[in-house]
Amino acid sequence: SIRVRFAPSPTGNLHVGGARTALFNYLFARSKGGKFVLRIEDTDLERSTKESEDALLRDLSWLGLDWDEGPGVGGDYGPYRQSERNSLYKQYAEKLLQSGHVYRCFCSNEELEKMKEIAKLKQLPPVYSGRWANATEMEVQEELEKGTPYTYRFRVPTTGSLTIHDLIRGEVSWNYDTLGDFVIMRSNGQPVYNFCVTVDDATMAISHVIRAEEHLPNTLRQALIYKALGFPMPRFAHVSLILAPDRSKLSKRHGATSVGQFKEMGFLPQGMVNYLALLGWGDGTENEFFTLDQLVDKFKIERVNKSGAIFDSAKLRWMNGQHLRSLPSEELTKLIGERWKSTGMVTESEGSFIEEAVQLLKDGIDLITDADNALSSLLSYPLYSTLSSPEGKPVLEDKLSEVAANLLAAYDSGDFNSALEEGSAGWQKWVKSFGKSLKRKGKSLFMPLRVLLTGKLHGPDMGAGLLLIYKAGKCGVVAPGSG
Ligand code: GLU
Repeated sequence: SIRVRFAPSPTGNLHVGGARTALFNYLFARSKGGKFVLRIEDTDLERSTKESEDALLRDLSWLGLDWDEGPGVGGDYGPYRQSERNSLYKQYAEKLLQSGHVYRCFCSNEELEKMKEIAKLKQLPPVYSGRWANATEMEVQEELEKGTPYTYRFRVPTTGSLTIHDLIRGEVSWNYDTLGDFVIMRSNGQPVYNFCVTVDDATMAISHVIRAEEHLPNTLRQALIYKALGFPMPRFAHVSLILAPDRSKLSKRHGATSVGQFKEMGFLPQGMVNYLALLGWGDGTENEFFTLDQLVDKFKIERVNKSGAIFDSAKLRWMNGQHLRSLPSEELTKLIGERWKSTGMVTESEGSFIEEAVQLLKDGIDLITDADNALSSLLSYPLYSTLSSPEGKPVLEDKLSEVAANLLAAYDSGDFNSALEEGSAGWQKWVKSFGKSLKRKGKSLFMPLRVLLTGKLHGPDMGAGLLLIYKAGKCGVVAPGSG
């Protein structure tokens, strides 16, 4: 049966690279009716934190990548944190010692350093010389009695090679002679990373290992351990790096890179997931818009590209806008309304105002947070204060065009406000007769009106905007900074 895993180390935030790896694993599992396992690789106790683990789980859940087994869910193959699996690693290390696949190495650090120097002088690769590989029982016993610290070293074949058929990269081969016998357990009894991963993947019955390209060099060691333990080898798929626009490795200096940051910035999980999927994958058509369910439907690991994918934050933003506008309108109203309420821009009681404002403004925004600016820029033009204050009027009169003069007159007579009071139909009627009286229509009417009424050359539908401004005035919504 198909079982895949996402195995983050809880040493920081979930970055876009990790999120994409998680997504590909999720899509692979869901598209094949398999299981998606989450395993926390916290063997590095110094750098692993509970906060990071919590944040990882939170960000994965936010993206909608729910796991079938792992922390918070349980499962038959637990525990799902490496720090809780130590006895298992010990058990398998002993097994390998018994079978002769590993041996005790009593070399001190100084001896190891010396070996490296000698290898360098002889222009040989800096691999372990095999000093303890063929030690006699007696030699070993002697060191044990002296209490000399020792590591467990894996006996690597000196000749031959390994080839894997990577689902993304095709054939990948290594010669054994470049490796040298490597440590699987340190002298303090701590198992080494590659050993833990292998024992975990094997005992969790993982069928496909889908992970970042940077782990490819680990695959040789892991494959050797698999063979020694007699477990069937999983299939491997190594996903390429995510690159910055300058083709260097994407990093903090290129701006936001963690899922949490994007969430803060106002991105939607739907937009993130869709964009991450397109980093190295496509369904072979022009289509780029996918929901998570559609991705599950279309995903094929063979279609993942083996060259690096460039992270384009402008495209991510655009993609997010597509998803934002395709949300059901109640959902979008709720999201944006909650945001406005939390920032104090509007209050609980202004229900229909929120709905109308969202409808009016949504075409001009890509992120949830863009809605703040859109609303305040709509409301902050001091139309009413300018029209109604004695100091304000001269400002308008100053640029006295025909349109401004007549608008002022309409305002003073109360015609303008009573038109707005009647809503959309009232506005339509007013603007029509206003144009007629000036013998203006189309652009020559609407452009000066827009500038006078909103202070801008472009913007959302002017009538709807004015009605909203009018409504805001009546229900007491005040744009920040406009008071
Ligand atoms: N813990 C590793 C990481 O966070 C992943 C190892 C793997 O997938 O094999 O990069």
